[in-house]
Amino acid sequence: MDQMEQMDQMELLYRLQEVDLSISNMEKSLEDTPLIREVNEKQEEVEGRKVELEDTKEEIVRKKKKVKKLESELQQKSEESSSLRKKMYGGEIASTRELEQMEKKLNLLEQEKGELENSIIEEMEIIEEIESRKKKQEEELSGEEKKLKELNEKLEQEQEQIKEELEKMRGRRTELAEQVEPRFMERYETYSQRFNGRGIANVVRDICEGCRVYISSAIKGRLYKSNSLVYCENCGRILVWIPE
Ligand SMILES: [Zn+2]
Repeated sequence: MDQMEQMDQMELLYRLQEVDLSISNMEKSLEDTPLIREVNEKQEEVEGRKVELEDTKEEIVRKKKKVKKLESELQQKSEESSSLRKKMYGGEIASTRELEQMEKKLNLLEQEKGELENSIIEEMEIIEEIESRKKKQEEELSGEEKKLKELNEKLEQEQEQIKEELEKMRGRRTELAEQVEPRFMERYETYSQRFNGRGIANVVRDICEGCRVYISSAIKGRLYKSNSLVYCENCGRILVWIPE
C-alpha cells in the first residue's frame, strides 16, 4: 500500500489502464472463448442428431402402418377365398361353366394372397433394418449428449473462474481509481475512449509504446518530472515513464 501511495499519478493511470484492459478481456471471455464455441458446435450437432432420430422413428411408424394395411388386405382376400371355396364345394353349384369361373377367381385370389404375403415379408425386413439404424442413432445421440454435458460442466467451471478473477480485478480497479486525482481521471477516460482503451503509452528506452516512435528530447525532459501530463508528439497519447 505504501508503495502505491508513492506511485506517481501517471504511473497510476498506466496501472489503471492495464487493469481496465484485463477487465475488458475477461468480460469478452464470458461471451466468447474456444470452449464456448465448442459447446455451441456440440449443441448444434446434438440437435441435428435428434432431428435425424425423429425422422427415423417416423419412417418406422409409416412402414408399420403400411404393413397393417397389407395385412388387412390379406385378411380380406383370405375371407373371400374361403367363402368362395365353401360355395364351390357345397354342392349347390350345378353348372360346370360357373364352377370353372369360380375356380379361376379362386386361383387369382390365391395368387394375390401370395403377393401380399411377400410384400409383408419385404416390409418387415425393411422395418428391421430401420430399427437397427434407429438403435445406432440412439446410441450415438446419447454419446454426444454425454459429451455435451461434460463440455457444459467444463464451461461452467471456466466461467466461474473468470468471474472470480474479474471480481478481484474490479476490486483492484477501485483501489487504484481511488488514488487518482479527478483531473487525471477525467483525462484518462477521454483518452481511453479516443485510443480504444489504450490512451496511455509507456515510454521504454525513449520509444513511445503506443506508436513505436522515438520521443523528442524536449518531451523527454518534461516526461521525467513527476505528475506531468505529456503527450506523444506522434500519436497523441499520454506518455508515462515508469523507472525500471
Ligand atoms: Zn506515440
